[in-house]
Amino acid sequence: MPAKTVNDIVALCKRRGFIFTGSEIYGGLGGAYDYGPYGVELMKNIKNAWWNAMIYSRNDIEGLDAALISNRLMWKYSGHEGSFSDPLVECKKCGARMRQDKMIDPTKCDNCGSTEISAPREYQLMMGLSIGATADGAINAYLRPETATTTYVNFKNVLDSKPHKLPFGIAQIGKAFRNEISPRNFVFRMREFEQAEMQYFVRPGDDETQHEQWKKIRMDWWINVLGIPAEKLRFTPHDKLAHYAKAAFDIEYEFPDGFDEVEGIHNRQDFDLGSHTKSQNEFKINANVLENKDSTTKLSYSDPQTGDNFIPFVIETAMGVNRAMLAVMIQAYTDEQLPDGKSRTVLKLKPKLAPVKAAVIPLARNVPELLDTANNIENELRKLAIGRIELENSGNIGKNYRRHDEIGTPVCITVDHQTLEDNTVTLRHRDTMAQERVNIKDIPKRVLEIINS
Ligand code: ATP
Repeated sequence: MPAKTVNDIVALCKRRGFIFTGSEIYGGLGGAYDYGPYGVELMKNIKNAWWNAMIYSRNDIEGLDAALISNRLMWKYSGHEGSFSDPLVECKKCGARMRQDKMIDPTKCDNCGSTEISAPREYQLMMGLSIGATADGAINAYLRPETATTTYVNFKNVLDSKPHKLPFGIAQIGKAFRNEISPRNFVFRMREFEQAEMQYFVRPGDDETQHEQWKKIRMDWWINVLGIPAEKLRFTPHDKLAHYAKAAFDIEYEFPDGFDEVEGIHNRQDFDLGSHTKSQNEFKINANVLENKDSTTKLSYSDPQTGDNFIPFVIETAMGVNRAMLAVMIQAYTDEQLPDGKSRTVLKLKPKLAPVKAAVIPLARNVPELLDTANNIENELRKLAIGRIELENSGNIGKNYRRHDEIGTPVCITVDHQTLEDNTVTLRHRDTMAQERVNIKDIPKRVLEIINS
């Protein structure tokens, strides 16, 4: 059973060191969160799983890690400076500020229910910066609000250094910043968050087929790699298309409060490369782009066969990593009644995603032989390089099992007095709580089987 409310996850995240409120000891800061010891591992495992699927399992996608701060002109021609905004309304009674398109009822204040709501005004979401020694406070750069644009402007750099034929892609994982009007639902809507985005460059005319293919690839990934059941996911087409899009779908996950977006899969046609290219007049650009007088580079592709030089179309897959982690935690969260009348909370994560891969627990902490044996097992498991292995030495086995159930550790290995006699340990499985007796020399093989299951 997944978590019934996001609050279950908020409490678990704080208790077990997944996510903390940003600058908490000073009262926090809306929309900013810090990832603790286990949160950072889960995020990393999700990002690695994405990188593995997008880059290491294919030969047509390259990686990139672009700067977070960028020249203002980039955001002028991408259209963000002019139109990356949300409709802001204000309650005249209680002063609450809300994003009109996300209000429960746009005629009533979400906070106090008053119907005295101001007319909407467009509110710029990009975070402006004033950088450099001569800065006079005026905005001369921006923190990026997405990774995508920083990929488009590197199209030629990547292609010239690593030649590819169309179709090919460029993928990035990195931070993005948006001055969201009302950050909400824990890490669902933050002001600083992380995206895993891939831009796939295709021949105009191939875009619709490629769009369908990427919808399928990405949905399969959510199901097979993140372990979200298919019935908890759906595609929703955008009813109002952004000015650059030819078609757009969101993958939505069923959160406790209903379905909401976790990833966008968009056909952006030639808007992006067409907006940022030099010599726009030399190309037939389909999308409606701003005239660009500042770009120094043609962002076009030369067909090696025909010699045609044209602007490729883009299919984008844009996932929020924090939202993916939230969905994974909600889905894995299980409260179970045990036969002895007690209950336990367990995170039934895919073993590959688990923050801790295995815990080694000596049954008594004051018996040096048990601790030595546990240390040796821990060292052998570390050699597998499968992620974090923990040695627990508190001596309270029940507490240790509870903690590792709650953080989703797939397997606990207990070293007890019998171990000293016959070299066997107890291997306890997280989901079934089944225990098996395994010889020490077989532990690495057995753990690998469990992690890869
Ligand atoms: P929304 O409609 O929820 O504001 P969006 O359509 O603007 O999101 P995109 O620009 O398509 O989002 O960004 C791609 C992904 O980045 C989203 O699917 C989401 O998972 C994630 N994302 C966007 N904004 C935020 C945010 N403020 N906090 C956390 N994740 C976000």
